[in-house]
Amino acid sequence: MTIQVPSQFFYEWLEEHYINLLKKTIKKELGPEGRLEYSIIMENSISETKPYSIKIPTSNKKDTQNPMVNMPIDLNKGQSRDIPNPFIIPGLKKIKVQSQLVETYSFDNYVEGDCNRLARSAGYAVSENPGKTSFNPLYLYSNVGLGKTHLAHAIGLQVKNNFPNLTVLYVSAEQFIAQYIESVRNNNQNDFVHFYQMIDVLIVDDIQFLAGKEKTQDVFFHIFNFLHQKSKQIIITSDKPPVEMKGMEPRLLSRFKWGLAADLQMPDLETRIAILQKRIYNDGMDIPYEVVEYLAYSITTNVRELEGALISIMAQSSLNKKAITLDLARSMIDKFVKSTSREISIDYIQKVVCDYFNLPVDIINSKTRKREIVQARQLAMYFSKKHTKSSLATIGLHCGNKDHATVLHACRTINNLVETDKQFRIYVEDLDKKIKL
Ligand code: ADP
Ligand code: MG
Repeated sequence: MTIQVPSQFFYEWLEEHYINLLKKTIKKELGPEGRLEYSIIMENSISETKPYSIKIPTSNKKDTQNPMVNMPIDLNKGQSRDIPNPFIIPGLKKIKVQSQLVETYSFDNYVEGDCNRLARSAGYAVSENPGKTSFNPLYLYSNVGLGKTHLAHAIGLQVKNNFPNLTVLYVSAEQFIAQYIESVRNNNQNDFVHFYQMIDVLIVDDIQFLAGKEKTQDVFFHIFNFLHQKSKQIIITSDKPPVEMKGMEPRLLSRFKWGLAADLQMPDLETRIAILQKRIYNDGMDIPYEVVEYLAYSITTNVRELEGALISIMAQSSLNKKAITLDLARSMIDKFVKSTSREISIDYIQKVVCDYFNLPVDIINSKTRKREIVQARQLAMYFSKKHTKSSLATIGLHCGNKDHATVLHACRTINNLVETDKQFRIYVEDLDKKIKL
């Protein structure tokens, strides 16, 4: 494990106060082979020398006496460069562009799934080769809360990692508009344009807010052309694909189609679970798997709501000093999720049925004709008919790729069994309660 610290002082302080805890945790998490290393960023603000970091192992006094002599690691591949900022503060000659990137929105924290594979890999390719791929502009679109902003930041962060001398700027379209209006008020539009023309990787989030703002679109159009011509990378996010955008100048829309437009979808169940687990891990929390699963099953609107529910549960548990249990999760979800998305899904029914009989959930979709599995499948069909609005055909499709006649037959079989078999009726009533919880 490497801890990056801003100066030697932090390293010493950690060593002094936390070394035992760190050692214990590293042994627990990484095993006896686990090693701790610090990386100290040495930044020399006076001379023009580029920043570099040094790596030092822990608690080995011999090695740490003079960290300066230990293998300097070059963080910079090229010379760092200061950009003159048109919004200059008098007396200040140079100012570095603040990228406005959020560290936690990294590729590491971005869970890959079918829902985002194209967008993610295109984004990754762009970050390896900004401005040099055919994904320029890279246009990411989706409904809210599905990870556009996160992915856009991840690309920016990765570019900065790979090419520290490139200037990356993340800006929301709203900020862009506000800055433009400000520049008009101060009569320095040229400076505004000039500033944006100096960016190597420009990320504009939620471009749909430019709709109807002709002047701002106009100025963005010129910036776009300038940057594109110079092979600078442009990344745009939007709530719609270019063809469906309203209130945008056609010439701007046609530019958006030059590169790649990739959409993000709602993650499937496994990806939702993985996202929650990553988040829980990052927050250092410990939450029972069944609760994670329950959340992933119940919230199918977007990732932001999924994370919101998780955060509410964590808050609820720590404020009231209650353990995080399935019951707590259920009571939270009822309050949290809008009634529309609390609809019982076929997936969810399959899960409850399989859990009840201790079967793996994917067995429902297998070809097997073993009695107990056929019965579980029939129960899943029966409850899906009862609790969802899905058609017989849809239910069949999701329960082992069967046709509607099979589903009908399953419903009849279950009804017969309920009437004739007392034990079976108890199962069904039990399951019904669990499903409706
Ligand atoms: P959008 O910009 O599309 O509205 P965001 O990027 O703000 O969505 O995403 C909402 C939340 O969901 C963020 O906290 C983000 O980290 C998280 N999120 C979305 N997709 C993923 C993913 N694939 N892996 C991890 N977290 C994700
Ligand atoms: Mg966003």
